[in-house]
Amino acid sequence: MNLLVTGCAGFIGSHLCETLLRAGHTVVGIDSFVPYYPETYKRANLRGLLEHPQFRFVQADLRTDPLEPLVRDIEGIYHLAAMPGLVKSWTDFDGYWTCNVLATQRLLEAVRTSKTLKRFLYGSTSSVYGKYASGDETLPTRPVSPYGVTKLAGEHLCRAHAENFGLPLIVVRFFSVYGPRQRPDMAYHKFIRALLRDEPITLCGDGHQMRGNTYIDDCVEATLQAMEGPIGETFNIGGADPVSVWDVLHKLEAIAGRKFRILREPERPGDQRQTFADTGKLTRHRGWKPKVGIDEGLARQWEWQKTLPL
Ligand code: NAD
Repeated sequence: MNLLVTGCAGFIGSHLCETLLRAGHTVVGIDSFVPYYPETYKRANLRGLLEHPQFRFVQADLRTDPLEPLVRDIEGIYHLAAMPGLVKSWTDFDGYWTCNVLATQRLLEAVRTSKTLKRFLYGSTSSVYGKYASGDETLPTRPVSPYGVTKLAGEHLCRAHAENFGLPLIVVRFFSVYGPRQRPDMAYHKFIRALLRDEPITLCGDGHQMRGNTYIDDCVEATLQAMEGPIGETFNIGGADPVSVWDVLHKLEAIAGRKFRILREPERPGDQRQTFADTGKLTRHRGWKPKVGIDEGLARQWEWQKTLPL
Protein backbone atom coordinates (compact mmCIF):
# COMPACT_ATOMS: atom_id res chain seq x y z
CA MET A 1 0.00 0.00 0.00
CA ASN A 2 0.89 3.65 -0.43
CA LEU A 3 1.20 4.95 3.14
CA LEU A 4 2.00 8.23 4.84
CA VAL A 5 3.47 8.51 8.33
CA THR A 6 3.61 11.91 10.02
CA GLY A 7 6.26 12.33 12.72
CA CYS A 8 8.41 9.72 10.93
CA ALA A 9 11.66 10.96 12.52
CA GLY A 10 10.29 10.52 16.03
CA PHE A 11 10.55 7.62 18.45
CA ILE A 12 7.41 5.69 17.50
CA GLY A 13 7.16 6.97 13.91
CA SER A 14 10.64 5.79 12.89
CA HIS A 15 10.06 2.26 14.24
CA LEU A 16 6.66 2.15 12.56
CA CYS A 17 8.11 3.18 9.17
CA GLU A 18 10.78 0.48 9.37
CA THR A 19 8.14 -2.18 10.07
CA LEU A 20 5.89 -0.96 7.25
CA LEU A 21 8.78 -1.06 4.78
CA ARG A 22 9.72 -4.58 5.90
CA ALA A 23 6.12 -5.58 5.13
CA GLY A 24 6.58 -4.31 1.55
CA HIS A 25 4.66 -1.03 1.69
CA THR A 26 5.68 2.25 0.08
CA VAL A 27 6.02 4.96 2.70
CA VAL A 28 6.11 8.75 2.56
CA GLY A 29 7.42 10.11 5.87
CA ILE A 30 6.85 13.69 6.98
CA ASP A 31 8.66 15.46 9.80
CA SER A 32 9.69 19.04 10.53
CA PHE A 33 12.20 18.30 13.33
CA VAL A 34 10.38 20.46 15.88
CA PRO A 35 13.06 21.38 18.42
CA TYR A 36 11.25 19.80 21.39
CA TYR A 37 14.31 17.59 21.74
CA PRO A 38 17.58 17.72 19.75
CA GLU A 39 17.42 17.11 16.01
CA THR A 40 20.46 14.81 16.23
CA TYR A 41 18.27 12.08 17.79
CA LYS A 42 15.71 12.42 15.01
CA ARG A 43 18.35 12.41 12.25
CA ALA A 44 19.76 9.21 13.78
CA ASN A 45 16.25 7.66 13.88
CA LEU A 46 15.87 8.37 10.15
CA ARG A 47 19.26 7.03 9.08
CA GLY A 48 18.22 3.50 8.07
CA LEU A 49 14.99 4.71 6.49
CA LEU A 50 16.66 7.14 4.11
CA GLU A 51 18.54 4.30 2.43
CA HIS A 52 15.36 2.35 1.68
CA PRO A 53 14.20 2.60 -1.96
CA GLN A 54 10.51 2.56 -0.98
CA PHE A 55 10.82 5.37 1.54
CA ARG A 56 10.51 9.05 0.67
CA PHE A 57 11.27 11.64 3.34
CA VAL A 58 9.62 15.05 3.12
CA GLN A 59 10.74 17.73 5.54
CA ALA A 60 7.51 19.67 5.97
CA ASP A 61 5.64 21.38 8.77
CA LEU A 62 2.02 20.28 9.03
CA ARG A 63 1.15 23.69 10.47
CA THR A 64 2.22 25.73 7.49
CA ASP A 65 3.27 23.75 4.41
CA PRO A 66 0.85 22.79 1.60
CA LEU A 67 -0.34 19.25 2.39
CA GLU A 68 -2.60 18.33 -0.55
CA PRO A 69 0.34 17.32 -2.80
CA LEU A 70 1.68 15.05 -0.04
CA VAL A 71 -1.54 13.11 0.47
CA ARG A 72 -2.31 12.57 -3.21
CA ASP A 73 -2.73 8.80 -3.98
CA ILE A 74 -2.14 7.89 -0.31
CA GLU A 75 -4.19 4.90 0.88
CA GLY A 76 -3.39 4.92 4.59
CA ILE A 77 -2.21 7.62 7.01
CA TYR A 78 -0.61 7.12 10.41
CA HIS A 79 -0.80 10.56 12.02
CA LEU A 80 1.78 10.51 14.82
CA ALA A 81 3.30 13.99 14.53
CA ALA A 82 2.73 15.98 17.69
CA MET A 83 4.35 17.88 20.51
CA PRO A 84 4.53 15.11 23.12
CA GLY A 85 5.16 15.21 26.87
CA LEU A 86 3.10 17.04 29.42
CA VAL A 87 5.58 19.17 31.38
CA LYS A 88 6.41 21.70 28.65
CA SER A 89 2.76 21.97 27.66
CA TRP A 90 2.22 24.40 30.57
CA THR A 91 4.84 26.82 29.26
CA ASP A 92 4.72 26.36 25.46
CA PHE A 93 1.00 26.25 24.86
CA ASP A 94 1.42 27.78 21.43
CA GLY A 95 3.66 24.89 20.35
CA TYR A 96 1.17 22.31 21.65
CA TRP A 97 -1.95 23.77 20.21
CA THR A 98 -0.41 24.43 16.81
CA CYS A 99 1.33 21.02 16.46
CA ASN A 100 -1.46 18.96 18.02
CA VAL A 101 -4.64 20.79 17.00
CA LEU A 102 -3.98 23.13 14.07
CA ALA A 103 -1.67 20.63 12.32
CA THR A 104 -4.24 17.84 12.72
CA GLN A 105 -7.04 20.01 11.32
CA ARG A 106 -4.90 20.99 8.31
CA LEU A 107 -4.11 17.34 7.58
CA LEU A 108 -7.78 16.41 7.89
CA GLU A 109 -8.75 19.17 5.49
CA ALA A 110 -6.09 18.01 3.03
CA VAL A 111 -7.59 14.48 2.88
CA ARG A 112 -11.23 15.54 3.00
CA THR A 113 -11.88 14.87 -0.68
CA SER A 114 -9.39 12.03 -1.12
CA LYS A 115 -10.60 9.27 -3.42
CA THR A 116 -7.86 6.84 -2.38
CA LEU A 117 -7.76 7.00 1.43
CA LYS A 118 -8.90 3.77 3.10
CA ARG A 119 -7.71 4.34 6.68
CA PHE A 120 -6.64 7.32 8.81
CA LEU A 121 -5.06 6.42 12.17
CA TYR A 122 -4.72 9.09 14.84
CA GLY A 123 -2.04 8.42 17.47
CA SER A 124 -3.52 9.59 20.75
CA THR A 125 -2.49 9.11 24.36
CA SER A 126 -3.51 7.80 27.77
CA SER A 127 -3.22 11.45 28.85
CA VAL A 128 -6.69 12.07 27.41
CA TYR A 129 -8.07 10.07 30.37
CA GLY A 130 -6.39 12.22 33.02
CA LYS A 131 -4.95 11.43 36.44
CA TYR A 132 -6.29 7.87 36.65
CA ALA A 133 -5.91 6.22 33.27
CA SER A 134 -6.56 2.61 34.23
CA GLY A 135 -9.25 0.77 32.37
CA ASP A 136 -10.74 0.30 28.95
CA GLU A 137 -11.69 2.79 26.24
CA THR A 138 -14.94 3.74 28.02
CA LEU A 139 -13.12 5.55 30.84
CA PRO A 140 -14.17 9.21 30.97
CA THR A 141 -11.78 11.60 29.23
CA ARG A 142 -10.71 14.23 31.76
CA PRO A 143 -7.22 15.38 30.77
CA VAL A 144 -5.22 17.19 33.47
CA SER A 145 -2.54 18.76 31.26
CA PRO A 146 -2.64 21.08 28.24
CA TYR A 147 -0.90 18.23 26.36
CA GLY A 148 -3.81 15.86 27.10
CA VAL A 149 -6.34 18.56 26.23
CA THR A 150 -4.75 19.26 22.83
CA LYS A 151 -4.46 15.55 21.98
CA LEU A 152 -8.12 15.06 22.90
CA ALA A 153 -9.03 18.06 20.76
CA GLY A 154 -7.21 16.31 17.90
CA GLU A 155 -9.32 13.19 18.47
CA HIS A 156 -12.50 15.28 18.39
CA LEU A 157 -11.48 16.96 15.14
CA CYS A 158 -10.90 13.52 13.60
CA ARG A 159 -14.33 12.37 14.82
CA ALA A 160 -15.96 15.50 13.38
CA HIS A 161 -14.40 14.71 10.00
CA ALA A 162 -15.49 11.07 10.29
CA GLU A 163 -19.10 12.05 11.09
CA ASN A 164 -19.39 14.72 8.43
CA PHE A 165 -17.14 13.60 5.60
CA GLY A 166 -16.74 9.85 6.11
CA LEU A 167 -13.10 9.90 7.23
CA PRO A 168 -12.14 6.20 7.68
CA LEU A 169 -10.88 6.82 11.22
CA ILE A 170 -9.11 4.62 13.76
CA VAL A 171 -7.91 6.13 17.06
CA VAL A 172 -5.20 4.49 19.14
CA ARG A 173 -4.29 5.67 22.65
CA PHE A 174 -0.69 4.84 23.54
CA PHE A 175 0.33 4.22 27.15
CA SER A 176 3.96 5.18 28.11
CA VAL A 177 6.02 3.67 25.33
CA TYR A 178 9.66 2.74 26.00
CA GLY A 179 12.58 0.91 24.41
CA PRO A 180 15.36 1.86 21.96
CA ARG A 181 15.02 5.46 20.63
CA GLN A 182 12.82 6.50 23.53
CA ARG A 183 12.65 10.31 23.64
CA PRO A 184 15.35 11.88 25.82
CA ASP A 185 12.74 13.78 27.87
CA MET A 186 11.03 10.55 28.96
CA ALA A 187 11.60 9.16 32.45
CA TYR A 188 13.31 5.84 31.65
CA HIS A 189 15.66 7.53 29.19
CA LYS A 190 16.62 10.05 31.87
CA PHE A 191 17.08 7.34 34.52
CA ILE A 192 19.36 5.24 32.29
CA ARG A 193 21.34 8.30 31.15
CA ALA A 194 21.92 9.28 34.78
CA LEU A 195 23.20 5.78 35.61
CA LEU A 196 25.53 5.81 32.61
CA ARG A 197 26.86 9.28 33.47
CA ASP A 198 26.88 8.69 37.21
CA GLU A 199 24.59 11.67 37.76
CA PRO A 200 21.71 12.04 40.23
CA ILE A 201 18.09 11.69 39.12
CA THR A 202 15.10 13.75 40.20
CA LEU A 203 12.16 11.70 41.41
CA CYS A 204 8.91 13.69 41.32
CA GLY A 205 6.18 12.57 43.72
CA ASP A 206 6.30 9.56 46.03
CA GLY A 207 7.50 7.06 43.40
CA HIS A 208 4.40 4.90 43.86
CA GLN A 209 2.85 6.14 40.61
CA MET A 210 1.89 3.07 38.58
CA ARG A 211 2.64 2.70 34.88
CA GLY A 212 1.59 0.09 32.36
CA ASN A 213 4.48 0.61 29.95
CA THR A 214 4.37 -0.44 26.32
CA TYR A 215 7.50 -1.84 24.71
CA ILE A 216 8.09 -0.19 21.32
CA ASP A 217 7.81 -3.42 19.25
CA ASP A 218 4.48 -4.21 20.92
CA CYS A 219 3.34 -0.63 20.30
CA VAL A 220 4.14 -0.87 16.58
CA GLU A 221 2.53 -4.29 16.16
CA ALA A 222 -0.60 -3.12 17.99
CA THR A 223 -0.77 -0.01 15.80
CA LEU A 224 -0.62 -2.15 12.65
CA GLN A 225 -3.32 -4.43 14.03
CA ALA A 226 -5.55 -1.49 15.00
CA MET A 227 -5.20 -0.11 11.47
CA GLU A 228 -6.84 -3.33 10.20
CA GLY A 229 -9.64 -3.09 12.78
CA PRO A 230 -13.19 -1.85 12.25
CA ILE A 231 -13.41 1.77 11.10
CA GLY A 232 -14.55 4.21 13.78
CA GLU A 233 -13.05 2.31 16.74
CA THR A 234 -10.75 3.60 19.47
CA PHE A 235 -8.18 1.18 20.89
CA ASN A 236 -5.98 1.37 23.98
CA ILE A 237 -2.41 0.23 23.35
CA GLY A 238 -0.50 -0.75 26.48
CA GLY A 239 1.80 -3.33 28.00
CA ALA A 240 1.14 -6.24 30.31
CA ASP A 241 2.81 -5.59 33.65
CA PRO A 242 2.04 -2.47 35.69
CA VAL A 243 5.04 -1.27 37.71
CA SER A 244 5.70 1.62 40.07
CA VAL A 245 8.53 4.08 39.51
CA TRP A 246 10.35 2.47 42.46
CA ASP A 247 10.04 -0.95 40.78
CA VAL A 248 11.62 0.45 37.63
CA LEU A 249 14.45 2.12 39.55
CA HIS A 250 15.26 -1.16 41.31
CA LYS A 251 15.18 -3.08 38.03
CA LEU A 252 17.53 -0.57 36.39
CA GLU A 253 19.90 -0.73 39.37
CA ALA A 254 20.02 -4.50 38.95
CA ILE A 255 20.77 -4.17 35.21
CA ALA A 256 23.46 -1.53 35.76
CA GLY A 257 24.97 -3.06 38.88
CA ARG A 258 25.01 0.34 40.61
CA LYS A 259 22.71 2.50 42.75
CA PHE A 260 20.84 5.67 41.85
CA ARG A 261 21.50 8.94 43.64
CA ILE A 262 18.00 10.35 44.05
CA LEU A 263 16.87 13.97 44.53
CA ARG A 264 13.24 14.30 45.59
CA GLU A 265 10.73 16.84 44.29
CA PRO A 266 6.95 17.15 44.65
CA GLU A 267 4.58 15.78 42.01
CA ARG A 268 4.32 18.05 38.95
CA PRO A 269 1.04 19.60 37.80
CA GLY A 270 -0.56 17.32 35.21
CA ASP A 271 1.28 14.16 36.38
CA GLN A 272 -0.73 10.98 36.08
CA ARG A 273 -1.13 8.79 39.15
CA GLN A 274 -1.99 5.51 37.48
CA THR A 275 -1.87 4.44 33.87
CA PHE A 276 -2.64 0.87 32.94
CA ALA A 277 -4.40 0.02 29.72
CA ASP A 278 -7.11 -2.57 29.45
CA THR A 279 -6.29 -3.72 25.92
CA GLY A 280 -8.99 -6.41 25.75
CA LYS A 281 -10.75 -4.68 22.88
CA LEU A 282 -7.75 -4.94 20.55
CA THR A 283 -7.29 -8.55 21.66
CA ARG A 284 -10.94 -9.34 20.87
CA HIS A 285 -10.89 -7.61 17.48
CA ARG A 286 -7.42 -8.54 16.27
CA GLY A 287 -5.98 -11.15 18.65
CA TRP A 288 -3.17 -8.77 19.65
CA LYS A 289 -1.41 -9.15 23.01
CA PRO A 290 1.81 -7.54 24.28
CA LYS A 291 4.82 -9.86 24.15
CA VAL A 292 7.76 -8.05 25.75
CA GLY A 293 7.86 -7.89 29.56
CA ILE A 294 9.29 -4.99 31.50
CA ASP A 295 12.57 -6.70 32.48
CA GLU A 296 13.44 -7.62 28.91
CA GLY A 297 12.27 -4.23 27.60
CA LEU A 298 14.36 -2.24 30.07
CA ALA A 299 17.41 -4.39 29.33
CA ARG A 300 17.02 -3.68 25.60
CA GLN A 301 16.68 0.07 26.22
CA TRP A 302 19.78 -0.03 28.43
CA GLU A 303 21.76 -1.75 25.67
CA TRP A 304 20.66 0.88 23.15
CA GLN A 305 21.46 3.83 25.41
CA LYS A 306 24.93 2.43 26.07
CA THR A 307 25.65 3.04 22.36
CA LEU A 308 24.76 6.78 22.55
CA PRO A 309 27.44 9.41 23.10
CA LEU A 310 27.41 10.39 26.80
P1 NAD B 1 8.40 12.20 19.03
O1 NAD B 1 8.51 13.62 19.48
O2 NAD B 1 9.63 11.36 19.12
O3 NAD B 1 7.82 12.15 17.54
C1 NAD B 1 6.92 13.11 17.05
C2 NAD B 1 7.51 13.67 15.76
O4 NAD B 1 6.56 14.58 15.19
C3 NAD B 1 8.80 14.48 15.99
O5 NAD B 1 9.87 13.94 15.23
C4 NAD B 1 8.44 15.90 15.53
O6 NAD B 1 9.51 16.58 14.90
C5 NAD B 1 7.26 15.65 14.60
N1 NAD B 1 6.37 16.81 14.51
C6 NAD B 1 5.80 17.47 15.53
N2 NAD B 1 5.08 18.51 15.07
C7 NAD B 1 5.19 18.49 13.70
C8 NAD B 1 4.67 19.31 12.68
N3 NAD B 1 3.94 20.38 12.96
N4 NAD B 1 4.97 19.00 11.41
C9 NAD B 1 5.74 17.92 11.11
N5 NAD B 1 6.28 17.12 12.06
C10 NAD B 1 6.02 17.40 13.35
O7 NAD B 1 7.22 11.55 19.89
P2 NAD B 1 6.78 10.03 20.08
O8 NAD B 1 7.07 9.65 21.47
O9 NAD B 1 7.30 9.20 18.96
O10 NAD B 1 5.21 10.18 19.94
C11 NAD B 1 4.54 9.95 18.70
C12 NAD B 1 3.05 10.13 18.91
O11 NAD B 1 2.58 9.24 19.91
C13 NAD B 1 2.63 11.53 19.36
O12 NAD B 1 1.44 11.86 18.70
C14 NAD B 1 2.40 11.38 20.85
O13 NAD B 1 1.44 12.31 21.31
C15 NAD B 1 1.89 9.96 20.92
N6 NAD B 1 2.17 9.30 22.20
C16 NAD B 1 3.44 8.90 22.54
C17 NAD B 1 3.65 8.25 23.76
C18 NAD B 1 5.01 7.76 24.18
O14 NAD B 1 5.10 7.15 25.27
N7 NAD B 1 6.06 7.97 23.42
C19 NAD B 1 2.58 8.02 24.63
C20 NAD B 1 1.32 8.46 24.25
C21 NAD B 1 1.12 9.07 23.03
